[in-house]
Amino acid sequence: MPDQPPATPARIARRDVLRGTLAAGVALAATPSVSGPAAAAGPRRRSPGPGGRTVAIFGGGMAGLSAAHELAERGYPVTVYEPAYLGGKARSMGVPGTGTGGRLDLPGEHGFRFFPGCYQHVPDTMRRIPFPGNPNGVLDNLIRVEGTVAGVRGRPPIFAPVEIGSIDQLTPQLLQNTIVGAFGFVPELPPHELAFFGKQMTMWFTSSDERRFGQWEYVTWERIMHAAGKSAAYRDYLVNALTRITVAAKPHLSSARTIGTIGEALVLAATGAIPQFSGGIDRILNRPTNEAWIDPWVAYLRSLGVRFVLGSRASALHLSGGRIDSVTVTDAAGATARVDADYYVCAVPVDKAVPLLDDRILEADPQLAGMRELLTDWMVGIQFFLRRPTELPQGHIAALGSPWALTALRQAPMWVGDFAARYGDGSVRECLSVDISDWDTPGILYGRSAKQCTAQEISAEVWAQLKEWLNTATGWLRDEDIHSWHLDPGVSWSGGIAENETPLLVNTVGSYEHRPHAHCAIPNLFFGGDHVRSHIDLATMEGANESGRAAANAVLDAAGDPGSRAAVFPLVALPAFEAAKRLDADRYRAGLPHILDV
Ligand SMILES: Cc1cc2nc3c(=O)[nH]c(=O)nc-3n(C[C@H](O)[C@H](O)[C@H](O)COP(=O)(O)OP(=O)(O)OC[C@H]3O[C@@H](n4cnc5c(N)ncnc54)[C@H](O)[C@@H]3O)c2cc1C
Repeated sequence: MPDQPPATPARIARRDVLRGTLAAGVALAATPSVSGPAAAAGPRRRSPGPGGRTVAIFGGGMAGLSAAHELAERGYPVTVYEPAYLGGKARSMGVPGTGTGGRLDLPGEHGFRFFPGCYQHVPDTMRRIPFPGNPNGVLDNLIRVEGTVAGVRGRPPIFAPVEIGSIDQLTPQLLQNTIVGAFGFVPELPPHELAFFGKQMTMWFTSSDERRFGQWEYVTWERIMHAAGKSAAYRDYLVNALTRITVAAKPHLSSARTIGTIGEALVLAATGAIPQFSGGIDRILNRPTNEAWIDPWVAYLRSLGVRFVLGSRASALHLSGGRIDSVTVTDAAGATARVDADYYVCAVPVDKAVPLLDDRILEADPQLAGMRELLTDWMVGIQFFLRRPTELPQGHIAALGSPWALTALRQAPMWVGDFAARYGDGSVRECLSVDISDWDTPGILYGRSAKQCTAQEISAEVWAQLKEWLNTATGWLRDEDIHSWHLDPGVSWSGGIAENETPLLVNTVGSYEHRPHAHCAIPNLFFGGDHVRSHIDLATMEGANESGRAAANAVLDAAGDPGSRAAVFPLVALPAFEAAKRLDADRYRAGLPHILDV
């Protein structure tokens, strides 16, 4: 069985936060040193802060900012090097040149943000970021989503509550019945197949950790759900749509353990029975992500003394005497500089981390070569700006079974303020933000995959699929309402070939063992990012945040710091399932299948 994620250290005490905050004034004085042509605008080593230990973090996404947050609150001098945008994949961005008359640019985003109730790390961080008028910091900018619209081709869409209801004591039998009841709204699903799905989910819930890591990690979700030979409705809705739409994973590639883990957490959050999952199954922000969260976060980190060096990427890690001796950073013009620090956190996405792992680094820690085996895929957002609000119900929108696995969210009615008065040219009243999770399946308009389309064709195809899946008997989406659209600028075309600067990790079967820990055999090098092992086990803001905390804790360990560690929260396991899991652990050790695996 691969290593389990780490156990929970003590939560940070308030006095430690205060101590960190006060110490931050001192910390301002000590940052990693930079020398070389690109150093002119960069930070210089000043007198040392607490312990005199400096930290250089490469990557200002969720993982990098989370690591910076934990370390800065503990008084460590931190510098973050970020080549593109703080917030990384989680950022929002204005659509350049669209704001007139003193209004802000129309709000674009990499993809809309969804905060499932099972998240624990992200809310804990948000609570600690001050926001004017909010007693719980930016956490108070989250609002609960009550329902979801499920669009099924050729039938009127269904508005379904996202919460299962208040269940005090979820037992295996009740779980099975609840799951069967929850999907009863799809009439094409043969009842015996729906019952089988409920049984398989119960099998997952009652599987021991030994079996989850030893067996289900090496089986696809498609296989654990026995998709072969089942009806098209079973395959489309229960196997494909549920994975592609909720977590943008691929059922024929993704590990059953990964999908089962997040599926279990989502179901538990939906029951309302878990005190740790208090926010309901689903929350979203009440403004664009940067306004609601990233900008206040960066301001708070700056107030703690964190330095940000923008436009600078790590281009080489230098090893000497078994430790990282320095890191070369390169700016957009190609100028290089040398960064010296005591600790180095590599919080860049896995596709950008792999080129940094040269032979010397891999010799020092051969395990890191596993990162080369990790797979990334495309998931990208597009926003439609509309002149009239659509009558689509508020909440998540899922075009179940659509070729490009589309999900969407109406932003304007959920956000504070008058959208038209705040953004754009004053005529836009609605922002429908859509995530495209399948870039390889041919669409309905051009018969081509998203990767084979131009940006204009992608916009037309997405709109056509949305209308086909949601407009049945409604007329919610009207062509004449489209003001403009915005596709994530990470997608570009070179010689007619689409490229994506920011692909997302996909957890394929057996990939867990290839994912790095936050620490490695090089004592002053640490890793953060959604590819690092985490409890949630999925490429999410939650996983990235946990990894940043783990990297910070590894720095504290390396520094021999006696202070508190950043909180790391395991997923919740229900006591009612423990006896069945113990039985399964015995069966697994005896080489027997799960008792429901028939
Ligand atoms: C369309 C879409 C929608 C999503 N929706 C959700 C959602 O609703 N909920 C959710 O929880 N998750 C969602 N995710 C996943 C989530 O956004 C990511 O898993 C998470 O933001 C990753 O954070 P990270 O810090 O690991 O990586 P990143 O966000 O990629 O940050 C890494 C940073 O490193 C920088 N960098 C790159 N190379 C270098 C270098 N050489 N040196 C220094 N810096 C470098 C990058 O510019 C970037 O800013 C979504 C993802 C996508 C693609």
